[in-house]
Amino acid sequence: MVADGRCVGVLAIQGAVDKHLGMLERLGVHGTRVLRKEDLDGLDALIIPGGESTTISKGLDRLGLFEPIQAFARSGGAILGTCAGAILLARECENHPVPTLGLLDMRAVRNAYGTQVDSFVAPADSDAPADLAAMRCVFIRAPQIADLGPEVEVLLRVDGLPVLVRQGRVLASTFHPELADDPRVHALLLGL
Ligand code: GLN
Repeated sequence: MVADGRCVGVLAIQGAVDKHLGMLERLGVHGTRVLRKEDLDGLDALIIPGGESTTISKGLDRLGLFEPIQAFARSGGAILGTCAGAILLARECENHPVPTLGLLDMRAVRNAYGTQVDSFVAPADSDAPADLAAMRCVFIRAPQIADLGPEVEVLLRVDGLPVLVRQGRVLASTFHPELADDPRVHALLLGL
């Protein structure tokens, strides 16, 4: 597909960067790796991938990216954080806390479903909005999110627990939409 002129950055410190770039290509949007604050210039949206939030948080600090990403969000840039990315977007983090960006009014509880062997795939609950119906959600050492502020909208739940939320132009999934053969969460980001 030919790129449509929009450009989405993928934070490339660690994690499933190539899978996200593949999803963007599939949606006809140019994707680029972000490792410096200048890489944020001119982006329409930013993806913070899953991986290990301790490593990504340290990388954000080392690269001086905390403030530039917060400024990107303040200036209206859309952001999607997946799994560890969702942890980094949260107001606060529990169970081996790490410094976070604080762009979503919620608490993330790391590894709340258990360890790697407790990873699983589950269908989203049937009260999902029509455009996200029947999503298969891939959870890998996933966090749970709790204490959602009044501005945080829950878009998808699995077993009653929120797994995809939105606050303004910031989206977070506790699952890995880049690993299922389904571009709808990435399309939602582009729609913001
Ligand atoms: N368990 C990881 C963390 O707490 C997140 C796992 C993932 O991104 N798949 O950082």
